[in-house]
Amino acid sequence: MVDVTVRGAGAFGLAVAYACAAKGARVRVVDPNGPGGGSSGGLVGALAPHVPEQWNEKKAFQFEALAMGEDFWSEVVRLGGRDPGYARTGRLQPIDTAQALALAEARAETARELWQGRFRWEIVEARADWGPVSATGFVILDTLTARMAPRRAVAALAAAVTALGGEIVTEAPDQGRVVWATGAAGLIELSAHFGKSVGVPVKGQSASLRFDARTLPQVFADGVHIVPHGDGTVAIGSTTEREFENPSTCDAQIDAVIAKARTACPALAEAPVIERWAGLRPRAKTRAPMLGGWPGRPGHFIANGGFKIGFGIAPMVGRVMADLVLDGDNRIPAAFRVEANL
Ligand SMILES: Cc1cc2nc3c(=O)[nH]c(=O)nc-3n(C[C@H](O)[C@H](O)[C@H](O)COP(=O)(O)OP(=O)(O)OC[C@H]3O[C@@H](n4cnc5c(N)ncnc54)[C@H](O)[C@@H]3O)c2cc1C
Repeated sequence: MVDVTVRGAGAFGLAVAYACAAKGARVRVVDPNGPGGGSSGGLVGALAPHVPEQWNEKKAFQFEALAMGEDFWSEVVRLGGRDPGYARTGRLQPIDTAQALALAEARAETARELWQGRFRWEIVEARADWGPVSATGFVILDTLTARMAPRRAVAALAAAVTALGGEIVTEAPDQGRVVWATGAAGLIELSAHFGKSVGVPVKGQSASLRFDARTLPQVFADGVHIVPHGDGTVAIGSTTEREFENPSTCDAQIDAVIAKARTACPALAEAPVIERWAGLRPRAKTRAPMLGGWPGRPGHFIANGGFKIGFGIAPMVGRVMADLVLDGDNRIPAAFRVEANL
């Protein structure tokens, strides 16, 4: 007998299973495609915050999730023995105009309060060997941003779930409470169930370049994420496609993103492309995470809507879902609840 069946072995499902198992529940994760078979099996693992201003419960939730990164991932490593490729290496963004410089100064101020003095949003001189080209010669450095390697992080979470006595299988009937963390496919099924769209898959293409910048901050420039990983690669992402024919093929659109990355970050000019990858992000109607009880279906729960920030918020998603599923304690922000999408 298990207490909780989690359907879906992506970042959300495994984070929920891990948090439930850590609270002592007997957990079974079921996924026909295995861990990381969905959008969590990609290349880019930016764990990056929203700008530190106009604070709200969504930003506070994300801040808490990002801030707990070291503790969360070091416990995952301790239990399961697998390396998720996590490191808090920060992020650089170019400052191209005097207006952007003034805005960055204002945000440095608000970050001091909103990030509780634990992380900084500061203006530093652009460096020649790494980072974005910047017209003013200055860049924003934030020390909150981290990275993880999606495939290795999923494998690390799966190992931690198993170490806590959970099992991960490709097929099994529902037992106990059921958490549906079924990503993009789940949004389509939920839309059919509720008779209205509660979200759509949004395709993203990404790439991996051979370039060793493992200790250096990631870069966000011209809408492109440039994320050095611990294995001597740099991930580049991503396209955002509402219309697509094949969810898993790559085309000229990712080449355009790679070209932008090389222009924004000249250190990558000659770095060879070693992989291209595409997946479907689960985007809920509100664009926010979609978490909570399944309305009208007692004992069933939904953890979906990770969209572009699913990896960063997964630790908090696991925590609030485990509290709800096991204890009936609902601390999910109103804007993230399933009902907000109905
Ligand atoms: C190109 C790209 C780049 C990205 N970059 C970032 C980034 O830098 N930072 C970030 O935070 N996020 C990023 N994301 C978003 C991130 O990948 C998602 O938010 C996250 O993977 C969502 O996790 P999930 O577990 O909800 O979904 P998924 O990983 O898709 O998992 C859902 C799982 O459910 C399974 N499933 C489906 N139906 C069933 C069923 N009926 N029964 C059982 N299992 C089922 C699937 O096989 C799948 O494994 C990116 C996404 C893409 C596509």
